[in-house]
Amino acid sequence: MRLILLGPPGAGKGTQAQRLVERYNIVQLSTGDMLRAAVAAETEIGLKAKDIMASGGLVPDAVVVGIISDRIELPDAAHGFILDGFPRTVPQAEALDALLKSKGLKLDAAIELRVNESALLQRVEARIAQMTERGETVRNDDTPEVLSQRLSNYRASTEPLVHYYSDKRKLITIDGMMSIEEVTLEINRVLDAIADSDSAEKTVRKSARKKVAVKRESAARPAKKAAKTSVKAPAKKAKPAKAAKKAVKKAVKKVAKKAAKAPKKAAKSVAKGKTVKKSAKTAKKAVFGGKKAANSVKKTAKKRAKR
Ligand code: AMP
Repeated sequence: MRLILLGPPGAGKGTQAQRLVERYNIVQLSTGDMLRAAVAAETEIGLKAKDIMASGGLVPDAVVVGIISDRIELPDAAHGFILDGFPRTVPQAEALDALLKSKGLKLDAAIELRVNESALLQRVEARIAQMTERGETVRNDDTPEVLSQRLSNYRASTEPLVHYYSDKRKLITIDGMMSIEEVTLEINRVLDAIADSDSAEKTVRKSARKKVAVKRESAARPAKKAAKTSVKAPAKKAKPAKAAKKAVKKAVKKVAKKAAKAPKKAAKSVAKGKTVKKSAKTAKKAVFGGKKAANSVKKTAKKRAKR
């Protein structure tokens, strides 16, 4: 839960902030408290802020924005926070928006405690009187004069924030003139209603997202089918390629077979050649044999004639 408490000094912001801290387990970030601590510690910021605070003026925007920016970063603020006394001007509110956006955080509500100024002055005067009676130290900016100055600052600089957050639909206005208990109950009631509507909105968004996803899936289905067909198509076309491969294989086998047969044939023809040569030799022998025989017949006939 991230909240802002708006209201003039003395409206009861501090008291309600403490109750919200307990209820939501968040931290209260009060720029007034932080600045007072800085004044007490006499830090550079404290020295700058001291006189401004004592006179009821506003510390420069850059100083308070810097303080809040550093504080929001700390781990205890991760679960949520309630800003008390910040933002106090429209530029501070704009700086806060930018800060939250840069951190991916969302503001849940700005709670305005609306009070009657003259009743407020009476309240403060009564409180100062009680504190003085008890011997307690009164804050140096908690006097009727300084309060008047702070109220006029509130009207001029902080009241425009009511419109700022109303325009952003973040404003909750509570009657701060009720008793402390009643104010607490009213704040809790409104914040519960916001939490309920937030979770309802989340559910609606979730189911809307689901619907969109289902629609997308069903729209994608025919495309998937088409994709499948288009994947299958070349596979079908690939069949001729398979056939061609088969044919090539066959051809290769044939060639291989032929090649295997060729040496046998060659061997056969070589063998045939031998036979031919052999038979040629025999024929030659026969011819020569015939010639030899004829020659010897001729020779014998010649010899007989001489005799
Ligand atoms: P508070 O306790 O919130 O009333 O603040 C006490 C004083 O601190 C104020 O009167 C201012 O001087 C100073 N201060 C606190 N918060 C802021 C702020 N957001 N911007 C400027 N001045 C601030």
